[in-house]
Amino acid sequence: MRELVPEVGGAIFEALRMILEDVSFSDRVAEELAKGMTAEAAIKLVVEEYVLRFESMSDDYLRERAVDVRDAGQRILRHLLGVDHEIAEVRDQAVLVASELTLSDLAAVDHSKLEGIVTSGGGVTSHAAILAKSMGIPTVVGVEGLIDSCGEGDEVVVDGNSGTVYIRPSEEVIGEYRRLDLDFRAFQRELEDLRDLPAETTDGHRVAMLANIGFLGELSLVDHYGAEGIGLYRTEFPFLSYRDFPSEEEQQKLYRRVIEEMGDRPVTIRTLDLGADKYPSFMTALEENNPFLGWRSIRVSLEVENIFAEQLRAIVSSAGDAPLRIMFPMITSVEEIRRAREIYADCLSDLASRGIVPNSAIELGAMIEVPAAVLRAPQIMREVDFVSVGTNDLIQYTLCVDRDNGKVASMYQPLHPAVLQSLEMIVTAAHDAGRRVGMCGEMAGNPVYTVVLLGLGFDELSMGALYLPVVKKIIRGVSFSDARRVADEIVRYDTVEGVKGYLYAQLRELGLIELVETFS
Ligand code: PEP
Ligand code: MG
Repeated sequence: MRELVPEVGGAIFEALRMILEDVSFSDRVAEELAKGMTAEAAIKLVVEEYVLRFESMSDDYLRERAVDVRDAGQRILRHLLGVDHEIAEVRDQAVLVASELTLSDLAAVDHSKLEGIVTSGGGVTSHAAILAKSMGIPTVVGVEGLIDSCGEGDEVVVDGNSGTVYIRPSEEVIGEYRRLDLDFRAFQRELEDLRDLPAETTDGHRVAMLANIGFLGELSLVDHYGAEGIGLYRTEFPFLSYRDFPSEEEQQKLYRRVIEEMGDRPVTIRTLDLGADKYPSFMTALEENNPFLGWRSIRVSLEVENIFAEQLRAIVSSAGDAPLRIMFPMITSVEEIRRAREIYADCLSDLASRGIVPNSAIELGAMIEVPAAVLRAPQIMREVDFVSVGTNDLIQYTLCVDRDNGKVASMYQPLHPAVLQSLEMIVTAAHDAGRRVGMCGEMAGNPVYTVVLLGLGFDELSMGALYLPVVKKIIRGVSFSDARRVADEIVRYDTVEGVKGYLYAQLRELGLIELVETFS
């Protein structure tokens, strides 16, 4: 596991070991033994108590750690009962069906043969789901009633795109999916041929194609799909899997791995974006009425300065002379950037006094993901070397729509005229000030929006590596002048419906609609 997910693998097994060594855990077991319970029954009881405690936590991430506790319990029980836990040999083209899947389960099977994974429990942020995703295995989680309705040898179709699972499907369904699968693979191969070609329009305008990563395991995909660099490294992801704050040295090792792997390609490291929905287990989540409007992201970094400085030093000292960029998340004011820069300058002199010569070419940038930063974009540009638009947050803050609330999901509209106008304002401000402007929110990797983003003038698009080929194909299939015409026109529509109608008509006219529909 260390090979696959270096930062998570070790931490998970370490977490299991800690549960086993926890005195209150063994004391509870001893208490039950003293009452006359068998060892097996005592372990089962105490593990279930721990599981319940985790499951009642309000934080998604911590709740899903119940799986790890249960995993530890099951391992002890297997030893006590002398049961061999042989996972049946995985046949070619197998689908793994489980009530819950732990990282150690996934480590025990030959995942190169896995065509799909389906679980009844677990969430999308479970480590196994994240790992399966980074290995490119279609995975559907949270399928209720799964275990009772299928068994060994059943045929199963796993549609990771729509999140649908067919158990013992009819011949028609199988036939249809065989055809879809063939088409998709042929299409993927065709797209992969684009790997080393630039994202250049038919009239010679180029856009840099970068990848977003959270875990080191994703670096193999970055290479596979030919990213020109990393546009967003979400450094809080590895923090979420550590049991304690990673030390400066531990962080340095992580950043070094990414930088070395990317060679002379640029790497954008985003400083910690903790808080709101992202709390590591070693931090206590604050009770806040509106966590997304609360103590999160750069606000945490500027308040807990020593942690921020530690991270900045770890980044700078791992840079060597690589083309590195540091990006500050959730900037709402010029003051925040100035304060971040001051702390950064202190870190540089600190390192210099230790004989570490900082890489003077490191660029500093801001994420634009709050409406205040859009309105003040011209002023913000003067303080930074580059900006990158985080549409996931920008859309939720501009439209006042929680990005994770199903009830208002239909109002979360990337094509809302207010969002498009914001994007136009940001690009204009950046280019007026001679700054490069990128986008690293999910919008950048959705082919529906590619022509618009191209036409608006984004210099860089950063996305999940899997989407690079299709977005590149669209860019290579259109002229910059057509894209500009579409972008100029689209901002004139008053309604989302109007915008969408216009965009889809244009995509049809430009011969791009089929490509867009296959991938969105
Ligand atoms: C964003 O908000 O668009 C973004 C890229 O950051 P995150 O999704 O990590 O909040
Ligand atoms: Mg964000």
